[in-house]
This record gives sequence, structure tokens and C-alpha cells, in this order.
Amino acid sequence: MDVDRDAELERQEEFLDSEEVFRRNACTIIEEMLELNNDPTEHTTFLVDEVLHCIFFLGNINKPIITPEEIVNDEEMLNCLKRIFPRAFRLFSSQLPKRDPFSCVLDMIVHLTGESNEDQIIEQLRNLNTQLARGEENHLVPSVICVSQNTQRRGSARHYGLSMSTSGKTPGQIMVAASCFSAWDSDVADAVMTYYPNKQKKPYFDGRINLPKYVRCEAFNLYDRSPKAPCKSCGDLFGLATTETKGWAHGNCAEVGSVSNLFKNEEEVQVQAQSQSDTVTKPENRKRVRERVRNHLKMLLKEKNFSWDNKFYPDIVFNL
Ligand SMILES: [Zn+2]
Repeated sequence: MDVDRDAELERQEEFLDSEEVFRRNACTIIEEMLELNNDPTEHTTFLVDEVLHCIFFLGNINKPIITPEEIVNDEEMLNCLKRIFPRAFRLFSSQLPKRDPFSCVLDMIVHLTGESNEDQIIEQLRNLNTQLARGEENHLVPSVICVSQNTQRRGSARHYGLSMSTSGKTPGQIMVAASCFSAWDSDVADAVMTYYPNKQKKPYFDGRINLPKYVRCEAFNLYDRSPKAPCKSCGDLFGLATTETKGWAHGNCAEVGSVSNLFKNEEEVQVQAQSQSDTVTKPENRKRVRERVRNHLKMLLKEKNFSWDNKFYPDIVFNL
């Protein structure tokens, strides 16, 4: 990076307030997704719809509220989006997203690039990442990518995940709970719910996963591609060896989405890795832990004045 660009970035960082960082990054992500969808299929269009809903939701729970009109300030584009994706505009203020926005971007990139092209996928994400604005709060910016793979089989598929791309404690906690209930594999959700929301292991529920040694679960810093050791929380969740003594809130790391995708596609690994504790097989325990997570989620939504209709966008009705 040259000196001029360094100075320029510093200047930008100094002056961008939190709202402006959110607005700019939201806009960059939407434009990128529209560009990636230039040869639309049902699946890729679905992902654009999902990312719009999610970004508008996050804008809506931001303080101050950032409206879709403030995010997409080109009127022609706004009207066009409203015409093609009316449900995202209608339901961002009543339904919860299933996952954070960059999970949708990641899905799109992996879908278009092909899961085996790891270098290309990481480079594309890094490239997009450098276009995102930074400020006091880094809204909508993931920092780590994780790749999981069953190395017992030659040429086995790679499964990706990113660290949470929301900013601030409450949006992150909302997205983790929402993903537990709708997006993540149920064993991964069990592991996360074992610790959610206060990083304390519940005495009555132990969904901890123990990934077999043959599973590659490797994280990289998106900034410089350097390897990133699992944090303590990921050690708790997946039995990953680490010397880290600090941990992010359980569910925030790239490992979680990546292992969830691995489990959804590799049943053999899942069966070997899943919790052996009889606390998770008892329906009353699962109900209790889900109630605990739901209550916390509802409390956070209330704080944000969000009245939830018990649905995840699109088309999942929440049941305990
Ligand atoms: Zn972690």
C-alpha cells in the first residue's frame, strides 16, 4: 500500500461516523450482489433478496434507524429494487433474517466460483473487503474466513464460513440466536446454545462438538490471509486445540458457519463429531435451552423496539 493511499484511508477513518460506515457498506454489498447476479437464476436472485432483507433489518435496529431509502439513495435503483424484491422491503420490519449479510454474499461467491476454488473465493472476498469503509464501528465487515473439509476423502468438498459481519453486541447476539433457530445445522446450534448468551456453560445442556482429527477446520485473517488460531470459545464448541485464552461470544466466529455447512453436507462426520452427552437427547432439555435463547432474543428485540411476528425471512415459522 502506498503512502498516499494510507493517508487517504486514515482521513476517511477519521471522518466517517458510524451511520455513514453502515450506509456505505450496505450500499457496496448490495451493488456487489446485484453485479454477481448479472446472469440471474432462481438461487442467485433468492440470495439477493435475502441480503436486502437482512441489511434493511440491521438498518432498522440501528440507532438511529437507517432506512432502505437512506441506504439506496439512487432513486431509479431504489424503485427497481422495490419492484423486483417487494417482500424484502415489506418484511424487514417484522421478520428476522436467518443469518448475517455476508453469509449470503459468501454463499453467492461459493456458488458462482465453485467450492473447490479456495484461493479464488478468498481473494474475491478480500477484494470486496478492501472496498468496505472503516470507522469507529466496522459495520458489515467480516474479518475471518474458515474452511472445513473432511480430509479422509481425497478431493472432498470445502465448506466455508465467515466471522459475524454485524457490529455491536446486540445485533451480533440477535443474529446468533436467529441463526441457531433457522440457519445453522442443529448440532452446531446445540453447541452454541450451550453457552449462549453469557458465555457460561449451562449445567443442564451439553451440546459441545468434538471434531475428529481428520477434519480440517482452518481459519484465515481476511486482511492478510495469515492463519488464525481458534479462539477459546471455538475450542469449547468444537474441541479444537488452541492455546488462546480469550474467546469471542460463542457463535460469532467463522468456524461456526463453516462447521455448520460441513455437517449439513457430510453426515458421516456429523455423526462422529456430535455431542455424546445424554443431556442433549432429552426433549425437555432442548426445550429449556431453546426457551432460554428465545427469551433472550425477545428481550433484545424489545430493546430495539422491534415487534417480531415469529417468522424468519423468508418462510420459516419459529417453533420451540
Ligand atoms: Zn472463535
